[in-house]
Amino acid sequence: MGQLPFDPRPWPIRRNQALQDQTMRHTIGFVTRRFALAKRDVYRKNPAIEASRQAAVGQKRQAIRDMPRLLEQFRAQVEEHGAQTYMAAGAHDAIAIALRIARQAQAKLVIKSKSMVTEEIELNQAFESAGIVVRETDLGEYIIQLAREKPSHILAPAAHRNRHQIDELFHHDASQQGIQPPVSDEIAELTHYARFRLRQEFLRADMGVTGGNFLVAETGTLVLITNEGNADMVTSLPRVLVSIVGVEKIVRDWSSLVQIIQQPAMSGIGRHLSSYTTMVHGPRQSASAEGPDEWHVILLDNGRKALLGTEFEDVLSCIRCGACLNVCPVFREVGGHAYGSVYPGPIGIVETPLLTDLQVLPEIPSTLCTLCHACLEACPMDIELPHHIVALRRLKAKRRLNARRLDWTMRTWARFWQTPQGYRRSVQIARLAQRVSRQPRILHSAPGLFGGWFETRDMPAVAAETFHEWWPKHHHTGASEK
Ligand code: SF4
Repeated sequence: MGQLPFDPRPWPIRRNQALQDQTMRHTIGFVTRRFALAKRDVYRKNPAIEASRQAAVGQKRQAIRDMPRLLEQFRAQVEEHGAQTYMAAGAHDAIAIALRIARQAQAKLVIKSKSMVTEEIELNQAFESAGIVVRETDLGEYIIQLAREKPSHILAPAAHRNRHQIDELFHHDASQQGIQPPVSDEIAELTHYARFRLRQEFLRADMGVTGGNFLVAETGTLVLITNEGNADMVTSLPRVLVSIVGVEKIVRDWSSLVQIIQQPAMSGIGRHLSSYTTMVHGPRQSASAEGPDEWHVILLDNGRKALLGTEFEDVLSCIRCGACLNVCPVFREVGGHAYGSVYPGPIGIVETPLLTDLQVLPEIPSTLCTLCHACLEACPMDIELPHHIVALRRLKAKRRLNARRLDWTMRTWARFWQTPQGYRRSVQIARLAQRVSRQPRILHSAPGLFGGWFETRDMPAVAAETFHEWWPKHHHTGASEK
């Protein structure tokens, strides 16, 4: 079993905080809709993509099945190029290895490119506790680092913040640094400020840390895709480079990579390819002018290998494109932080309990999905997200992890609705209850367990007369034929 950081606050608190944050809701809604529309357009204009997507799914599934052998091949190739590889069973092991390397390198400043795996193991916190300064260099990650927040979207970590809020953050940073703040909150000015600040860090850093989008077993190559080019700097400027990558990122060879490399950008942001593709084969060779002196690759398991051979194996094909988040009606309303996990959205609902345990954030499979199946349609890797969510709910019920009151209510409800008589009786009870509570048209509240449901929703009241009651009265008089 792996470990993931999670927000210990109860779900109602996380939910209410999200629903009350109108700026976040507006910004997340805007960003996700824009990404989803761009994806729809790129697929519509390029019908040939579909064949390449299907080929990518096949190649990735095969690579996952061959994972143990391909990882060994990858490690052998990387070590032949003069780099070191390590297998980390869990977050603690990965952190211990990374810290050891940083201490040996006497690193004081570490620069990072965007990496969800380092969020998963909370690498920044571990480095900072050891007195090492960490600087995120992806713009979105840089923003949330200044705000001391977690990513709210796996592809666009600062998707919940608008430019006015970012301008405020940069002004605060500038006043602490005693430097000129951005001259306005225009996007060009904000990026100019971030570029100015980060350039100094790039040049001073002792160590670079990356994640990885793909690991090519055939040649021992790490592939990173970014839209800002910061990974090029992180992998080439510091003396020491550490790459921490989930074991599921393995692909067999370059022909597989060609099929799959377009998918994150196409499905995530509706573009043919990310702006930059960075490939790392090894540390600097004697003839090269640039590149790190040392390259260390930490391959992280953290609960992934346990999914091999199970009904959830296809989850390991996730390429972190974020397409499932972009179409999810729940994610669009509450944003990523409400999930409480480092992995939000439909993939987070599935991955969080699978990598850790159903007892970690037990509410998310039941509460944060409407089973609309939009994520299944959106996922370029054909991951059976809604089916997995139902399977997790079933497991949860089997392990009796639902609140007792909820269990009792669902059983009673099921008993009533198993027969037509029970269904009609439940309608009569509901009608009586709404009469007593004086809510004739719209229900705004309910007692007991149902009360929580009404905290954030209204519901039309049960009709004064149901169709079953209306039909016999009017049918015999012929009123229905008029
Ligand atoms: S589950 Fe599918 S859609 Fe969601 S992030 Fe992973 S690959 Fe993309």
